[in-house]
Amino acid sequence: MSSSAERAPAIRVPAIVVHGGAGADPSQAPEFRQGVRAAVLAGWRVLAAGGGALDAVEGAVRALEDDPRFNAGRGSVLTRDGTIETDASIMEGDRLQCGAVAALPGIVANPVAVARKVLESRQHVLLVAHGALAFARSVGIPECDPASLVTDRQRKRHAELARTPTSPGGGTVGAVALDRSGTIAAATSTGGTPGKLPGRVGDSALIGCGTYADSSLGGVSCTGDGEAIIRVVLGHRALRYLKDADDPDYAAKVAVDLLVEEGVGQGGLILIDWRGRPGYATSTRLMPVAIMSPALDEPRVPF
Ligand code: ASP
Repeated sequence: MSSSAERAPAIRVPAIVVHGGAGADPSQAPEFRQGVRAAVLAGWRVLAAGGGALDAVEGAVRALEDDPRFNAGRGSVLTRDGTIETDASIMEGDRLQCGAVAALPGIVANPVAVARKVLESRQHVLLVAHGALAFARSVGIPECDPASLVTDRQRKRHAELARTPTSPGGGTVGAVALDRSGTIAAATSTGGTPGKLPGRVGDSALIGCGTYADSSLGGVSCTGDGEAIIRVVLGHRALRYLKDADDPDYAAKVAVDLLVEEGVGQGGLILIDWRGRPGYATSTRLMPVAIMSPALDEPRVPF
């Protein structure tokens, strides 16, 4: 893909879209609706004040990580061993700068903040496990009591998992934004899949799979069966479809078809194109989404 260095400088109309994970339980839709609404407003405040897309997506994802109803930060699912290990990634599309953490031990409440520091370090793209934790400590990211990240909901799900290994996932979070200067950023954060093996890394930590941004084209955050998303490199492919079709909803739909047919998995994604037009699609019953732009008096929460 071409770099946005070729893009003519222009003032853009900012926009942001967030998701709260494919595979969400429809009976909890009102709670998720509230959560994504608050998160998109957190990101929107940054953009409306003239802030950058990277700050906006980090702000929105932090809000969702702090919300115990979502599977990211506080509220993350538990591994087979009953621990929390989180994955997160963030990318800005002007210079294709990115940062990610994987299998980060569950004593960091905001994994996306560590991913952002990795991006800013410009030394590496992806840090894992204890190396990621050591890095987080070295840059002053605060640690929390591990018990404070474990919610009753996830404790129960973990207990159910021992009886029914197909307990549904869901609740991964993500955000994509375009700022006034035309920069697009994307971020994704998750506790992963319930009952995963310790050390498992999903798409949310992998640039090109769960997260991608190229300011000349658009940005994307994916959710769903991580192994399937990785197999088809879904984030990057979705932007390729966006380039070909110039229609964010159509690109999102075709990308989800790819995930289902070639990846043999279920999931969804959100997109923003370089003009700030949002798109989203999912193969699951519910993927909470919220959208905000100057054309809207308040967030559009289309589910
Ligand atoms: N994609 C995430 C993972 O596989 C899970 C999800 O989006 O629900 O870790």
